[in-house]
Amino acid sequence: MDRLAGQTIIDIGANLSHPSFASDLDAVLSRASEAGVETIIVTGTTVAASGAAFALADSHERLYSTAGVHPHDAGHCDASTIASLKALLERPKVVAVGECGLDFNRNYSPHPDQEKWFVAQLELACEIGKPLFLHSRDAHPRFADILRDFRDRLPDAVAHCFTGEREELHAYLDLDLHIGITGWICDERRGAHLKELARAIPADRLMLETDSPYLTPRTMKPQPKSRRNEPAFLPYVLSTVASALGKPPEEVAAATTATAKRFFRL
Ligand SMILES: [Zn+2]
Repeated sequence: MDRLAGQTIIDIGANLSHPSFASDLDAVLSRASEAGVETIIVTGTTVAASGAAFALADSHERLYSTAGVHPHDAGHCDASTIASLKALLERPKVVAVGECGLDFNRNYSPHPDQEKWFVAQLELACEIGKPLFLHSRDAHPRFADILRDFRDRLPDAVAHCFTGEREELHAYLDLDLHIGITGWICDERRGAHLKELARAIPADRLMLETDSPYLTPRTMKPQPKSRRNEPAFLPYVLSTVASALGKPPEEVAAATTATAKRFFRL
C-alpha cells in the first residue's frame, strides 16, 4: 500500500507490550513511521501491562499509553488495583483510563467481578478527568446500562474495536461515545455489516486502531507470514473505512487524526 501523501494517522489501540513485540519493537515502530502511523496509543490491559505500556510511552516520543484492567482480568483485581492505576494515570504520557468494560463472549472473569471493576474504573475516570478506552463484547445492553448511570459525570469515552450491530451502535452514539474501528471491518465475512454502520458514525467521533497484534486486516494480500498485526498495517483499515464512507482516504485520515488528537489531548 502506498504511503499516504504526506499525511499521518494515529493508531489509538495497539498492544505493543504484548510478548510478540519484545524482540523487534524498534523495527515495528520504524515500519509504522514509514506507513504514516506517527502516533500510537499503547493499550494497558492489567496493572502490570499498563506499567509496561507506560514504560514504552515514557521511552518513545511518539508513544502514549492507557492504564486499566481488561474485563478478562477483572477476577484478578484486588484492593490495590485502583491506586496502582491512579498512580500511572498521574503521568502525562498515560492519556486514558482502560481498557475496561465487559466481555460476555469469553467470560474469563465472572460477570459480577467484571461489573464491579468496570464501575470502579468509571469512577476513577470521573475522579481524574481523563478519557475512557472502553471494551464491550457481547455485553449489550448491560454495558450501555452501566454507562448510562454515569454519563453525566463521565469524561469523553471511546468504544474501542466496535464490532456490534446497529442497535448497539446507536445506543453508544446516544451515550455520546466515540467509536474505534479496527481491521474487523476488513473481514469480508464477519465485518461486512460494519461497512454500512460506519456511515452512521459522525466524522468527529470516529477513530482508527489496529488492536495489534490481533485482527490483521484480511484485505492484506499476501497476509504477513507471522500473522501478527502491527501499527504499520493501519492504512488497510483506513482505506476500507474510506471506501465504506465513499470518501477519499486523505479526508478520513485528516478527520480521524484530528478527532484522536482532541480526544486524547495530544
Ligand atoms: Zn478490547
